[in-house]
Amino acid sequence: MAPDALQGIVRQQTNPARWNGKAWSAFVADLQALGVEVAESAATRGIFATDAGGTAYGLPHGVVIAQSATQVSALLKAAQAHCVPVTVRGGGLTTEGESVAYGGVLLDMTGMSRVLAIDPVTMTVRTEAGIYWHGLAEELRRENLDYLSAPLNMTSSVGGTLGVGGIDVNSARLGCSADQAISLQVVTPTGEIVECSDNENAELFQRVILGYGQFGVITEVTLRIRPYTPLRMHYYYYSSLRTAIEDLQLLDRNDASDYSGILTIMDCAVNLLVAFDSDEREAAFKANWQQRLRGYGEFGFALCMAGHYALRPWRIGEALYLFRRKQAVFPEFRRPEFHRDGRMDDRTVVFSRAVWKHWGSRNMVIPDLATSADKFIEAVERGNKVCRKFFRHYTLYCVGIRLRPEHKPHYEMSCVPPDAEGWAYGCEFEPMIEGEVYSRDHFQSFKNAIYDIGVDLGASYYRFGGMMKGYIRRVFGDALVDRHLAMKRQADPAMILNRDVIF
Ligand SMILES: Cc1cc2nc3c(=O)[nH]c(=O)nc-3n(C[C@H](O)[C@H](O)[C@H](O)COP(=O)(O)OP(=O)(O)OC[C@H]3O[C@@H](n4cnc5c(N)ncnc54)[C@H](O)[C@@H]3O)c2cc1C
Repeated sequence: MAPDALQGIVRQQTNPARWNGKAWSAFVADLQALGVEVAESAATRGIFATDAGGTAYGLPHGVVIAQSATQVSALLKAAQAHCVPVTVRGGGLTTEGESVAYGGVLLDMTGMSRVLAIDPVTMTVRTEAGIYWHGLAEELRRENLDYLSAPLNMTSSVGGTLGVGGIDVNSARLGCSADQAISLQVVTPTGEIVECSDNENAELFQRVILGYGQFGVITEVTLRIRPYTPLRMHYYYYSSLRTAIEDLQLLDRNDASDYSGILTIMDCAVNLLVAFDSDEREAAFKANWQQRLRGYGEFGFALCMAGHYALRPWRIGEALYLFRRKQAVFPEFRRPEFHRDGRMDDRTVVFSRAVWKHWGSRNMVIPDLATSADKFIEAVERGNKVCRKFFRHYTLYCVGIRLRPEHKPHYEMSCVPPDAEGWAYGCEFEPMIEGEVYSRDHFQSFKNAIYDIGVDLGASYYRFGGMMKGYIRRVFGDALVDRHLAMKRQADPAMILNRDVIF
């Protein structure tokens, strides 16, 4: 939809205007002379017309499949010379159009998907950055090893994730995926190939980690790894968001579980999930913490709900929905092919399947709020009211992220809220579309109502940039944003790399 369409309807942000492509032919000719192939067919460009969100649409003029740092360097040097925008894409799982190209080049990083070296002595892996976490897991698990934490999604890439954060159900203990990166190979916007870490070119490392692709293309990554363990999952059921969040934070503060998170059916059935890597950790939880949780087991909760709705027969529709939803979704988390001896082999497969099957649709509209621990209950309760106002059915997903004080410079102007100490918490507000047709303005108004809470509370967002970039200045203030913009202008004089995403 054009920015000036539907006069009179106020929007916080629309898609950027399409780059007009004047220098395109000369740019492509230069690249061809350097041996860099640019795919210009409509069929290839059309593959990248939108992201997982399905509400932002744009077409690149051409697609380059990443093959090596040298090739990416040649591309970026030519793009600087001709002022051609380059949009980098891993799995394309953004939902605000951040990985959609509005003209220029779409750089598809999945061409760089090889694992380069696994070192079981230092417990590290060196990999190309376009690999999906799931592909990396397959290689590591052959050696009985595993990554530490990664998104619960089968098509998120390592590079794309380090650029935005990466949250797993073990992030309350191990931190976000970006915290697992020891060093990176980065191609800067002007085409230099640079190795960086907290000890070498530290400033570049700090800007690229959680940097939304503004300060370089991540081409290789060295990550910490760990021994592989299947996990044992427990579920506790609550009818109060507040009580469930208090219990989640109690467990996180006391390092009482290896995995924790909240997944809800609206605000009626709130499921606290807790899981363990070892029998010892599970036994310690049962001895010290289980009895302090205020949630019910499945049977107890069913009885409780039956009593609740028996006294409120006018809400029978809601009760039936909860029952149907439980019958459909819960077995998905217990599918025998992904479990052995009561343990879940691979949480990513289980969660990713469930998400796409039971939540996913053509439009994935998932605004979120990321706050300090003490603001989190208010953020979720206010966001929940917004969901109730805009949609009949929805899901909330809440999870904690352990913050590492030594990584504070990485977190500046990112999804990690500036006032968070110890832990940050995130909640995704996810409407169930259920085949209904909603207008873009309905979705946008819903997202604005959630994002406005973030401004009000002084929070941040995991979905950061793209269509919601107007909120970045409102949340962080002009001084910080302008400081980052000055760094961006210095690093990327023609402003070609992932432009319009953040600034
Ligand atoms: C259904 C669904 C479930 C999700 N579940 C989770 C979850 O459990 N946890 C979680 O953390 N997130 C989750 N997300 C969000 C998404 O998975 C993360 O944002 C993801 O890690 C992004 O990876 P990607 O490869 O898809 O990146 P992309 O979407 O392709 O890119 C993300 C950003 O990074 C830039 N970029 C991509 N690759 C590179 C690179 N190599 N170098 C520099 N910049 C790059 C892009 O330009 C873009 O701005 C979910 C999203 C959806 C739609």
